[in-house]
Amino acid sequence: MTEKSTQSVVITIDGPAGVGKSTAARGLARRLGAAFLDTGAMYRAVTLAAVERGIDPSDTAAVESLMETRRFEFCPQGDLTRVWIDGADKTAAIREPHLTEQVRHIAAAAPLRARLVQMQRAFAADARRVVTEGRDQGTVVFPDAAVKIFLTADPTERARRRHSELRAAGKDVSLDAVLTGQQQRDAADESRTVGPLKPAQDAAIVDTTHLTAEQVIDQLESLVRGRIHG
Ligand code: C5P
Repeated sequence: MTEKSTQSVVITIDGPAGVGKSTAARGLARRLGAAFLDTGAMYRAVTLAAVERGIDPSDTAAVESLMETRRFEFCPQGDLTRVWIDGADKTAAIREPHLTEQVRHIAAAAPLRARLVQMQRAFAADARRVVTEGRDQGTVVFPDAAVKIFLTADPTERARRRHSELRAAGKDVSLDAVLTGQQQRDAADESRTVGPLKPAQDAAIVDTTHLTAEQVIDQLESLVRGRIHG
């Protein structure tokens, strides 16, 4: 891979809930020797920090000052992004379904997004190469990324994947409930005015409906290696 020594090589992966962004981004980062950034974990962590302090996630000013006083740490480990708030491990807590439902308030608040975008750019600036995943990575956060990818998949298949992940984690939730929650989350993500979920104009669209995780990673790796030579 040829790359300027002073500038990070950024690969963005965006897409809706349950499309397999995290697995794909983590696997791709491993193959490219790149850092991995799970930006959804950041939105989730801020939501949890607010809820834990009894702050309404829709009270943007209160959440903004809370963000200044609490310490957030994110570290990819195996198949997870480990998350600590003020040194306490919150890796499992940020994935609880009732918490997931509340993230949309943080995601729709322009000042909070601005702060998180700043943190995401700082993370990338520290890495030589980074694979980052979310909703707005190719459109807003890294408009000059070397490669932009947008993953899509049939909504029922996405819900099935999320359902089996939740079941594997011991959560007793029906497929119908997962599908309904996913539809609500997609609608909120697509319709907000700041950082909405949409493909960048220059993104490569990859449909993962009929692909295994390994096949998705293979496809993304050849796409990236085809664009970034060396
Ligand atoms: O990717 P994940 O499901 O963990 O993201 C949780 C929520 O965080 C999303 O539904 C979305 O509302 C928000 N999010 C966002 N922008 C990102 C990443 C996540 O608004 N870059």
